[in-house]
Amino acid sequence: MPTLVSFDGRLLPPARARISVFDRGFLYGDSIYEVLRTYGGRPFELPAHLTRLGRSARLIGLRLPLRAAAFRRRIGAALHAARNRESYVRVIVTRGEGPIGLDPALAVRPHVLVIVRPLHAPPAEIYRRGVSVSVVDVRRNLRQAIDPAAKTGNYLNNVLALREARARGGYEALMLDARGRVAEGSTSNVFAVFGARVVTPPLDGILAGVTRGLVLALAGRLGLEARERPLRPEDLRRADELFLTSTLRELVPIVRVDGRRVGAGTPGPTTLRLLETFRRRASGASR
Ligand code: PMP
Repeated sequence: MPTLVSFDGRLLPPARARISVFDRGFLYGDSIYEVLRTYGGRPFELPAHLTRLGRSARLIGLRLPLRAAAFRRRIGAALHAARNRESYVRVIVTRGEGPIGLDPALAVRPHVLVIVRPLHAPPAEIYRRGVSVSVVDVRRNLRQAIDPAAKTGNYLNNVLALREARARGGYEALMLDARGRVAEGSTSNVFAVFGARVVTPPLDGILAGVTRGLVLALAGRLGLEARERPLRPEDLRRADELFLTSTLRELVPIVRVDGRRVGAGTPGPTTLRLLETFRRRASGASR
């Protein structure tokens, strides 16, 4: 059974995993989630993902119905039953269902879903050739609106950003914040390389990517200078290399921004070195 859903702890085939149309996740995007993947069959960086789930819950005032150990058991049970070589894992907590109305107090019982399916690795070509991205007009939410640090089911901001990027032929959207600084991708963080310096925007109005955190740590260990500091769109033009990070895509070299070449226009040596180190670390962690 390669795709399975754990619905409040019950393992179901996908066709039987149905959520109410009155669920607030469906009605308002009133939910939170995490996406992780396995290496060697084991979930990678699970504690970091569960910590972030806890932070997302706090940021939207949702009381998690389970402790971390129970989340781990549910994820483990779903992975075990699915028996995939490598899996994609999506953990969703919705505020639950109730009478229609915005007041979160109308729902009293959150639902916990774990979706497990076979992992589809991104095409090798994006690593070999790199990707083009677009700096889009859609801005990242304000921290004072839906804080981007919360990974909520309300992804319309990012959906619109990606839609704009795709219309311009971009693989990913780069979103600016309200002040015009580079924030992040629609489902990724962004890094720039200047000589031996690796720079990524600070955790101020972006998602704290788990991959981002690891790359910062690995960069330091490779003798690179890892910095969290604001990036402006013009910095992207000056960078020797650019890359994206995310759980499912690891590190992806960016070779064009809105049609303009980055560095030599091919995946950069520092990006490729970090990618290799990251992969070694991820597959080593599974043993
Ligand atoms: N930013 C956003 C908005 C995302 O949706 C994601 C994907 N979860 C990321 C960054 C990358 O985070 P991670 O490395 O934890 O997958």
